[in-house]
This record gives sequence, structure tokens and C-alpha cells, in this order.
Amino acid sequence: MRKGSIFLHFMMFQFTQTRKMTNAFSTLKDQQQVWQSQESLADVFHMVVEVPRWSNAKMEIATKDPLNPIKQDVKKGKLRYVANLFPYKGYIWNYGAIPQTWEDPGHSDEHTGCCGDNDPIDVCEIGSKVCARGEIIRVKVLGILAMIDEGETDWKVIAINVDDPDAANYHDISDVERLKPGYLEATVDWFRRYKVPDGKPENEFAFNAEFKNKEFAVDIIKNTHDYWKALVTKKTDGKGISCMNTTVSESPFKCDPDAAKAIVDALPPPCESACALPMDVDKWFHHQKN
Ligand SMILES: [Mg+2]
Repeated sequence: MRKGSIFLHFMMFQFTQTRKMTNAFSTLKDQQQVWQSQESLADVFHMVVEVPRWSNAKMEIATKDPLNPIKQDVKKGKLRYVANLFPYKGYIWNYGAIPQTWEDPGHSDEHTGCCGDNDPIDVCEIGSKVCARGEIIRVKVLGILAMIDEGETDWKVIAINVDDPDAANYHDISDVERLKPGYLEATVDWFRRYKVPDGKPENEFAFNAEFKNKEFAVDIIKNTHDYWKALVTKKTDGKGISCMNTTVSESPFKCDPDAAKAIVDALPPPCESACALPMDVDKWFHHQKN
């Protein structure tokens, strides 16, 4: 965990459409000013990058830790890496989440019939740049896939970095089909099989694994923002989720910035050895036929 990047996660879950954005972080102030001078950005949201494209470490926002830092998932005492599913290498997009959203595990989704996975909504960012872990980017939402992971709803938003040189050519999910042929099919294939190397079953999808369009995606994101609002204002019991924050005035979990800084300062220094990957991370996993 890097001290330098944890600061960015104070903004965990914060809804990012400009007109609702009220945070005081210097890292976002400039963006806010830019946004306020523009109209019709209803499809643009912030994304916290958890996993850079082509990497394997399963990094995620630790919702139960104070201030929700990004940490590597640990399973049976070992750091977790996703396998390289043939023909892919690691994650095939920059992968992360939209802050200020929550897939409520107490709410059955009207489309999937399954409850939420208890995490912020996931994003697959399809632009050219390989982002850095902890980076916060603005993304244009293009569509969404309804994954069902062991009986839980786990939406996957498809989006592109607004700073991508080709971003202006992407308006909806059909543009991804046209301009990046095979990418959406690969995305379904990846999500279907990525837990198989760990001995888990294939994941399933609602809507026959078809992607829904931008309008549908924005609706789902707004729903997950409403669930987050209920969580951070204590109308819903988060059962262990830390809602500590420095910016949401109506939240009973709001804390003093100095208290937040003390938590960050008390963390151990960045772990350099995290860069040394185990040898088997490079292995290619072939889906064997029986
Ligand atoms: Mg999820």
C-alpha cells in the first residue's frame, strides 16, 4: 500500500458528476473547474484505477478499512493474482471502480434477480493508456455487462478515459463493437473464465451475456449511487464497511481531516517487495478440453 496514493481514497464512493461534486481535494479541484465550464457530461464519472491493464495482482478498494485504501486481496494467507487466461495477459483493461457507489447486498436487482456484491460498481476502461494503480481518471460510460458471480450481481461498466486520443469517437456500446472488434467478446470470455484456474465455476451473465447501452448503464450507476447515499448517511447498515470520510457533510461518519491524516501517517511505509512477482504469475492458463 503506498502512502502517496492512499490520500486519493479519501474520496472513496464520492459521486463524480460535476454538479454534485463538492470535495475539497486539491487533486480534483482543477478538474472540477474544467467540468463546471462544460455542459452535458451526464455520462462522465470518476474512476479509481485499482488494476492497471496487463497486470495480475488483484488489487481492490478495501471497504472495511478506514478511508478505504487499495490493497491486494489475500486468500489462504497468500497474495492473490489473477491467472493469465490464454490468450490474454492479466487484466485486459484498466480495471477499477466508480467512487460513491455501492452494490447493496440487501437489495435484489430487478434485472438479475440477485443481490449486490457489497462493493462499489466495477469499471473496465478501454482506452490506450495503461493507467497507474490509484490513479483517478474521468471516464465516459459506454455500456454495461450484468455478471452473476456466485449468485451475486456484479455489474461491469464499460467506459473510456475522456483523455484518450480517440475518446471523441466513442458514444455508446455500438462504437466499441465497431471500432474495437472482438474486445467485448473477449471481455465476456475473460469474466466467464477468470476464476476457473482457482477451482471455481464459470461465472454467468444476465441478458444472455449481451451488453446494455450507455443509457441503461448510467441508470444502473445512479441506482448504486443511491444505495451508497443510504449507506454513508447510515440509513442502511453497512455491516462492517467503513464509511469514514472527510467530505460528505450529511454523513455521521464524517471526520476531521487531521484525524484522517493521522490514520494515513500511521500506515507502514510502501512495501518495495510488492514489485517482486512470484514466478508462476507469468504462467499461461489453457482451458483444457475433456
Ligand atoms: Mg463488483
